[in-house]
Amino acid sequence: MRIADIREQTISLADPMGNAAISYAEMTASIVAIETDAVRDGRPVVGYGFSSIGRYGHGGLMRERFMPRLLAVESLEGEDGGFDPFLGWEAMMSNEKPGGDGERSGAVGVLDMALWDAAAKIAGVPLWKLLADRFNGGEALDRVPVYASGGHYHDGDALSALTDEVQGIVDRGYVIVKIKCGRDGLADDCRRIEAALKALGNSGERLAVDVNGAYGTPEEAFAMADALGGYGLAWIEEPGHPHDFDLLAELTDEFDLTLGTGENLFSGSELRNLLLYGGLRPEQDLIQIDPALAYGVPEYVGMVQLMESGDWSRAQCVPHAGHLYALHLVAGLQLGAHEAAPDAMSIYGGFANDVDWDDGQLTLPQAPGIGFERKENLFAVLETLNG
Ligand code: MG
Repeated sequence: MRIADIREQTISLADPMGNAAISYAEMTASIVAIETDAVRDGRPVVGYGFSSIGRYGHGGLMRERFMPRLLAVESLEGEDGGFDPFLGWEAMMSNEKPGGDGERSGAVGVLDMALWDAAAKIAGVPLWKLLADRFNGGEALDRVPVYASGGHYHDGDALSALTDEVQGIVDRGYVIVKIKCGRDGLADDCRRIEAALKALGNSGERLAVDVNGAYGTPEEAFAMADALGGYGLAWIEEPGHPHDFDLLAELTDEFDLTLGTGENLFSGSELRNLLLYGGLRPEQDLIQIDPALAYGVPEYVGMVQLMESGDWSRAQCVPHAGHLYALHLVAGLQLGAHEAAPDAMSIYGGFANDVDWDDGQLTLPQAPGIGFERKENLFAVLETLNG
């Protein structure tokens, strides 16, 4: 059991939207196809990967280091006789020093995603089931809590457009919505929050706010907490720089606001430092590490174990973005909730067509693998890798 071929491409996700830190005008992502020598229905099993949004494609690293190492693995047959992604992951990480995770973790993450897609297809089960059986004693969520991430900055739009966008998200079935703030100052943040709340029954607990690191000094962060604290928001995301654990500790010392962070931390060692020095509260705050950007399943499973070796529960894990893939981790590892881009017209928005709403949560996908084949517009892009 080995890999016959790996194909990758950088695709454009360009969009005029922005947040407090970046514009998406030049955003890219990597797509990957790993062709195995396993055959199902008369055809080789192909696993697909689609890297998370926000940190660009990883083609150079994959082509120079990680793809050749994977292709050189003589057998990916695990102890149980099945296709074992861990063997591929260990090969990719050979001769890599600890630390300095940087963009390396995204390159490994998207290839690892394709390995797990292939492994689940070979086993004939959806990925969440494979993860539940291997790492979680066979237990999985029955339905997946999900929230919508929208409300980006669109220059020239009136505030009423934000209200309309959030209303459209609610109309699709979402209960909790996150919007972007932090780019144009606290007075503007308050106007945006109030515009969004109009579509949420003025319920602050249905609204989260992502400031993408805009308030990076204690003075700025405290002013933000003072200004936004009265809205009773579900959480405030990334107040300052992702590595500024002091700032988080000062905020949690002074304020009761729920914080979310971690989408720009890429390894178990970075998470360890966050938990040790960030002052986060295990019963309250959210850990948003994105498995697709952080070395994939093997590293993420280790992070869950790290959290549970201390005071944390996996229910506090709400992975950043992640598209169809993260939904399987949330379900199969029994994490807290899934982040979704609500616009199914975008290739990274919406869900596979075998997933449905059930009382404000999502039913579990049933197709073998991640189910990329069940999301038509995304699979049309992934299929281009097959020539
Ligand atoms: Mg964020």
